[in-house]
Amino acid sequence: MGERRQGRGTMSVWAGEGRSSGGAPTQIPIVQSVSFGYDDMDAWMRVGRGVEPGHIYSRNTNPTVEAFEEKVRALEGAEAATAFGSGMAAISNTLFTLLSPGDRVVSVKDSYGGTSKLFMEFLPRFGIEAVLCDTTDHAMIEGELKRGCRLLYLESPTNPTLKVIDIARLASSAHECGAVVVVDNTFATPINQRPLELGADLVIHSATKFLGGHADALGGVVCGPRALVKEIFHFREINGAALDPMAAYLLLRGMKTLHLRVARQNESALAIARWLTGHRAVREVFYPGLETHPGHSIAASQMKGFGGVLSFSLAGDIEAVKVFLPRLKLAHRAANLGAVETIAGPPATTSHVECTPEERFAMGIPEGLVRYSVGIEDVEDLIGDLAQALEGIPA
Ligand SMILES: *Cc1c(COP(=O)(O)O)cnc(C)c1O
Repeated sequence: MGERRQGRGTMSVWAGEGRSSGGAPTQIPIVQSVSFGYDDMDAWMRVGRGVEPGHIYSRNTNPTVEAFEEKVRALEGAEAATAFGSGMAAISNTLFTLLSPGDRVVSVKDSYGGTSKLFMEFLPRFGIEAVLCDTTDHAMIEGELKRGCRLLYLESPTNPTLKVIDIARLASSAHECGAVVVVDNTFATPINQRPLELGADLVIHSATKFLGGHADALGGVVCGPRALVKEIFHFREINGAALDPMAAYLLLRGMKTLHLRVARQNESALAIARWLTGHRAVREVFYPGLETHPGHSIAASQMKGFGGVLSFSLAGDIEAVKVFLPRLKLAHRAANLGAVETIAGPPATTSHVECTPEERFAMGIPEGLVRYSVGIEDVEDLIGDLAQALEGIPA
């Protein structure tokens, strides 16, 4: 009783890590082994039946992967976590575990491009209806929940236009209708936002992004109550979307600096969003940390920081984007985000590469948009780089 809960920085470093005693390695070993051997048949059977801890086969469990699951579990304040080979594997496994023919999903138009594809293309083939609402129209979402809903799927802030959803309000409305609430927390990270504390049932990450933070490993994870996570884990054991131990190690190593990276990225993204707002070549800046952002007050109440991703549209539209992007010296032009390096790109080749121009238009994504994921560089250098790249771009 009364034991102080560790801070997120301490958890980023220590959660899931082994105790260094008796000459054991201080760092989590990469257990690059498919199976685990037993000489004692009874011990093997006890592990197989799950009455004793241990590992049998790495599609099911692996010690390095388990350490990664434990670190994310602690940071999200969840009972359990289970890891996957990518964020999309985590999302697909969650949806296909919890949904059956005849079920209805309610979500928003601005969810991640790959997730939208599941809603529009794959789930309907299994007789599951997905209703995609205007992302910030909370009343419309609540109306659809009342018409019957098995699962409410949310993302906040959204990709790439940084819309903000009131997670506590919608989680409570969804629970009144008996729906399970799933939140993709990739953009916010558990440093800035803890959806389970806001009433969500499950929280999902593409660990590929901020959690790993170094753009060198794919991974995904789902956290939540023991019973629900167990169901999803069971499906993953069978369909095989397991996380590789080497990737788990890279993600674990990256996560030790998660709190430092995110603190810097929050600060720099806000400074850059403010600077861009005054620029004549920029039409609109999308960042929930700006007081002028329509979701600012919700974001301020449910987030500790506003995150490391912002986007902005250029007055000169796609033609201006084609001149501006190649001029950036301190950014990878790539389809990724959340890394130590700054990364920039248009939605057509990044978040919504899976969608047609018509689909992007219907989602309200301007063709002249640039998504800018702020790295951990010195913010003065990033602003200088943006300034030189925007010079002479038509207003
Ligand atoms: C990248 C991303 C995903 C998909 O993750 P992968 O690891 O690339 O499969 C899902 N949701 C969001 C918000 C993302 O940014």
